[in-house]
Amino acid sequence: MEIDHIVPESLGGPTTRENLWLACSMCNDHKGSRIAAADPITGTVVRLFDPRRQRWTEHFEWSVEGDAILGKTAIGRATVGALRLNRVELVEARRGWIIAGWHPPAT
Ligand SMILES: [Zn+2]
Repeated sequence: MEIDHIVPESLGGPTTRENLWLACSMCNDHKGSRIAAADPITGTVVRLFDPRRQRWTEHFEWSVEGDAILGKTAIGRATVGALRLNRVELVEARRGWIIAGWHPPAT
């Protein structure tokens, strides 16, 4: 895990608790210095999900199988796409966690 600036330092984001969050290195690499991305359904550019100020369950849900994250809102869909939250390796890991009884997490 890495400490991520929700609003990147390059865009003026401060190094304060309110602007810091833990992200895995691959998600953080995909996020890069972005704070916004296009909703794949409407094409509208929206802010990425802010884990400090927004609720996960408002913007995301697990697929019926439990192995994929689905965006419920424009912010959720844009974030799933931008951070590639359903990368093959993540989906495969989640399938293993389901078999082990560790996933999906309680929300
Ligand atoms: Zn990640």
